[in-house]
Amino acid sequence: MDFDLSPLEQEYQQQVREFIRDNMTPEVRWDLSYAGLIDTPERRAFISKMADKGWLKLGFPESYGGDGVPNPMAKFILNMELMLANCPIVGKGLGQICGTLLLYGSEELKREFIPRTLRNEIQWAIAYSEPGAGSDLAALRASAVPDGDDFIINGEKRWITSAHFADYFWLAVRTDSSGPKHKGISLFIVDTKSPGVTIEPIHMVFKGHRTNTVYFDNVRVPRSRLVGDLDQGWKELMNALNLERFLMAASFPAVGRYRILLEWVKTAEVNGKPLLEDPVARHKLAKVDVLIEMARLLEMRCIARYAADSTTTPAAEATMNKAMAAIAYSELVDTALDLMGPDGYVMGSDAPMNGETPLNYLESGHMKVAAAGLDVARNMIAKQHLHLPSK
Ligand SMILES: Cc1cc2nc3c(=O)[nH]c(=O)nc-3n(C[C@H](O)[C@H](O)[C@H](O)COP(=O)(O)OP(=O)(O)OC[C@H]3O[C@@H](n4cnc5c(N)ncnc54)[C@H](O)[C@@H]3O)c2cc1C
Repeated sequence: MDFDLSPLEQEYQQQVREFIRDNMTPEVRWDLSYAGLIDTPERRAFISKMADKGWLKLGFPESYGGDGVPNPMAKFILNMELMLANCPIVGKGLGQICGTLLLYGSEELKREFIPRTLRNEIQWAIAYSEPGAGSDLAALRASAVPDGDDFIINGEKRWITSAHFADYFWLAVRTDSSGPKHKGISLFIVDTKSPGVTIEPIHMVFKGHRTNTVYFDNVRVPRSRLVGDLDQGWKELMNALNLERFLMAASFPAVGRYRILLEWVKTAEVNGKPLLEDPVARHKLAKVDVLIEMARLLEMRCIARYAADSTTTPAAEATMNKAMAAIAYSELVDTALDLMGPDGYVMGSDAPMNGETPLNYLESGHMKVAAAGLDVARNMIAKQHLHLPSK
């Protein structure tokens, strides 16, 4: 398999690097440890500048605001460079949501939502999880009941990141309770300002990160906002989750952090000797190196597969990528703390790795659980990839 970028892709990568070099400010970079989607005016303006350059529309059909030129690698190159530089990424709207709308959305939904997302005019919040439905997403209970041309939504969603600034929810609800639990689920696009929506903050331990609980109290949504077929939302959900498992739950954060760790190791001394000469330290670093390379290769396999045919989203490969990226990141952070000793627990720019290691440690817990907990992912790999029986 040839993972090299084509000359055109390399040229694009170079342009992105130059853009980041010229436009990244401390406000855009903001939080050293979390290259996520936390919204600030500066970060939104930064993404909008990329949209103005036409980078968000690369590879999308012209009829939905794209440039019409097949370019499946574009969003991976963009996010890879953004993550490596600790910039905000262009995650869920462009990747999971537009990617799923293209496959399953009605013509009306595609025309209404894809162009505005590609221009960064609208922001999204993904609303799947509930207090009793996280890993076991099919247990979700928030419901939508038909009422004339509308549906009426009731229920509670928890951990809904971006809800407090998003324009729309990408919302999974139960529309039929009579059959098996993964049947009877539907996906809707719901205006976050709809009457009956209440958003309450949940403040996380990693610096500045906020997520939310969202309550839906008789919230009305038109039937035209249903994505795909009624009661058949499970396959759309899985498609969007699989996209998330290689678009956002990626190996790049580990690659970026590892480079910074190596820079520190090259200058660090223990008991008056260079740390790099210590055989135990070298062994630990080599182990992390191998894990990160495994994660990167699994990711490239996923990307290559999606690039070859984006009408089907990788499933088992995506889950393997997600799991390996989380394992590599977690091992990297544990190793960094191990090598740094007490200094690893210091936050601040004069500490090793700019004092980001404690935040990385806290974040690694989230990485393990997001888009499929590690044990859940292992079970899925056993079923989807190894075809082992469920019980
Ligand atoms: C910071 C943050 C942001 C988030 N953002 C969003 C968001 O924007 N939208 C959204 O919908 N959700 C979001 N989530 C929710 C996240 O996706 C869930 O936390 C995740 O799906 C796990 O669900 P849970 O929290 O209910 O944990 P649980 O499902 O209770 O899992 C707890 C632990 O048990 C393990 N486990 C569970 N079931 C099994 C099993 N069958 N076999 C083996 N092990 C198992 C899991 O791997 C995990 O380690 C966010 C969470 C966090 C922490």
